[in-house]
Amino acid sequence: MQLFDTHCHLDVAAFDADRREVLQASRAAGVADLLIPAVQRSTWPALLAFCANDTHLHPALGMHPVYLERHQPSDVRALSDAVATARPVAIGEIGLDWHIESLDRERQQRLLEDQLAIAEAYALPVVLHVRKAHDAILNTLKRFRLNGGFCHAFNGSIDQAHRYLAMGFRLGFGGMLTFERSRHLRRLAVELPLDAIVLETDAPDMTVASHRFERNSPAYLPEVLHSLAQLRELPAEEVAEHTSANARKVLDLASESAE
Ligand SMILES: [Zn+2]
Repeated sequence: MQLFDTHCHLDVAAFDADRREVLQASRAAGVADLLIPAVQRSTWPALLAFCANDTHLHPALGMHPVYLERHQPSDVRALSDAVATARPVAIGEIGLDWHIESLDRERQQRLLEDQLAIAEAYALPVVLHVRKAHDAILNTLKRFRLNGGFCHAFNGSIDQAHRYLAMGFRLGFGGMLTFERSRHLRRLAVELPLDAIVLETDAPDMTVASHRFERNSPAYLPEVLHSLAQLRELPAEEVAEHTSANARKVLDLASESAE
């Protein structure tokens, strides 16, 4: 089994003590590939260094809307320069967070558009963080010529889902799917075509049911897979293969046979 964790923050301080061990445990659990999106400029060098010697660790560079106060105007130019030299697989994590009311919406919008312009210029997919702002972001995406991407931790409507799909996006499903109370999410996971779905952990956040209140880990991705397979009444192997292929397609990575 070759799983693809399309959203995992393995570079953050929560993994400083055991990053290599977590990676090893993940691989032992069948998680072959990890997409690690950045959240702010100061973390880019370490993230790139961590991914540098491993073709199955995929860095994305960007500025996360939740950390709005940490970003400087000059970071946009720095992002463009870093993308030109480091060639990340995607621009991210970027987006709009309207759930946290203290975050200035206009500034978020500007930061998003500046980064979408970079994604467009370098023909890179984007990794989106969207809370309570799907319609706003969908309307923004329309104004750019983008190569699709991932809408991480998707929990919008079926109509919004199809609008993302029409623009080449795939929707990330993670730990929330393992909780029985996630009724809306579970319905989405069954109603959407399997082509629409990619798996993610969002580690160290949003953990799975069996590790509630603990640090999340990419090694727990199989639990998300098994929830999805069970809900769709399909063999886990088939869901694994399909969702990993979906991720590779978005990132324009060649499909790889098992090593
Ligand atoms: Zn994230």
